[in-house]
Amino acid sequence: MRIYADNAATTRMSETAIQAMLPHFRENYGNPSSLHTVGQTAAEALAKARADVAACLNAKPGEIYFTSGGSEADNQAIRSAAKNGAMQGKKHIVSTAFEHHAVLHTLQSLEKEGFEVTLLDVGKDGLVTPDQVVAALREDTCLVTIMYANNEIGTIQPIREIGAVCKAKKVPFHTDAVQVAGHLPIDVVADNIDMLSLSGHKFHGPKGTGALYVRQGLRLHSLIEGGGQEKSKRAGTENIAGIVSMAAALQEACAHLEEHAQKVTALRDKLIQGLSAIPHGELNGHPTQRLPGNVNFCFEGIEGESMLLLLDDKGICASSGSACTSGSLDPSHVLLAIGRPHEVAHGSLRLSLCHENTEEEVNEIIQAVTQVVAYLRSMSPLWRDLEKGVKPHVIQ
Ligand SMILES: *Cc1c(COP(=O)(O)O)cnc(C)c1O
Repeated sequence: MRIYADNAATTRMSETAIQAMLPHFRENYGNPSSLHTVGQTAAEALAKARADVAACLNAKPGEIYFTSGGSEADNQAIRSAAKNGAMQGKKHIVSTAFEHHAVLHTLQSLEKEGFEVTLLDVGKDGLVTPDQVVAALREDTCLVTIMYANNEIGTIQPIREIGAVCKAKKVPFHTDAVQVAGHLPIDVVADNIDMLSLSGHKFHGPKGTGALYVRQGLRLHSLIEGGGQEKSKRAGTENIAGIVSMAAALQEACAHLEEHAQKVTALRDKLIQGLSAIPHGELNGHPTQRLPGNVNFCFEGIEGESMLLLLDDKGICASSGSACTSGSLDPSHVLLAIGRPHEVAHGSLRLSLCHENTEEEVNEIIQAVTQVVAYLRSMSPLWRDLEKGVKPHVIQ
């Protein structure tokens, strides 16, 4: 049996989400823009999905725009706020150094287009503070974009307080909540959020689905020109099967939110405890201010990629850094942002759990990681130097 512990990369679709799709491939295959009955059945399903997603966030249905995923939602939110800002002569954006690449790369593009970006430092614990945001705000700031929880180290930011700071200064606030939606309660009103991105495949819905919440009154610009779908903010015939399925997955996740969070948090803490016994290893990010399912460790004297391949041989699916950065030789920008030196950042392991994981699996993971770390160190010249005292240990 394989043990899947890479739920931050993607999740298995729930049976509810799969079943929700099927009628929209078979009998309800209409185009919501068509005036006939088949089309209008699709339009009704679309409206219901919109209302269901909105309800999970305490938003209004008219504030939800469906996208192809979290990346598109991030791009659209940031580019829209930038465009609005530029029209008022405001071209400064505040974000953090450990955002997802969908945010960071969009900001880099905007820099080339004449925007100025302030990336807040992230503390050793993987958290930014509202005071840092206050200090970074300027007269010409047109957007603050800070992720709700980090996808690599799982740390949860003080979003409500950051939102309050932005609200007081009348600066639009966007948050990438892709890792949070369906896992922790979100209330866009109480949390002072103006724009929020989510993605279906991170909460047991289908890939290629996502949504952007945009508070009423805030102007949104489209990335894709064409027909009048999504109030002319996102052209293209709607992915009805995907949208309906994502809404069903979100609804299901939100209905079991507390129960699942409790179970997964207990598994997480057991895993953290077990892996903490490995010498010269350390948990990345705050021990409790983190996502229920996220465990991320650095082990000295080890290559993350080798660890992954050996774990895969033992039937365990894990990740080193983020899926998007694996394959490149650069260490994770997130681990560098929290102050891990390059050589330590290379030895990182992310295990992300969900409610389908069991205690037996966690025990197996602890055993397998302990063995793999010992094996790789026994063959590592880097480790030999550390043990001989040629180089000092960074992690005690
Ligand atoms: C997965 C992820 C994304 C990208 O979402 P897609 O739907 O895969 O485009 C963006 N931000 C975070 C934090 C993520 O974890």
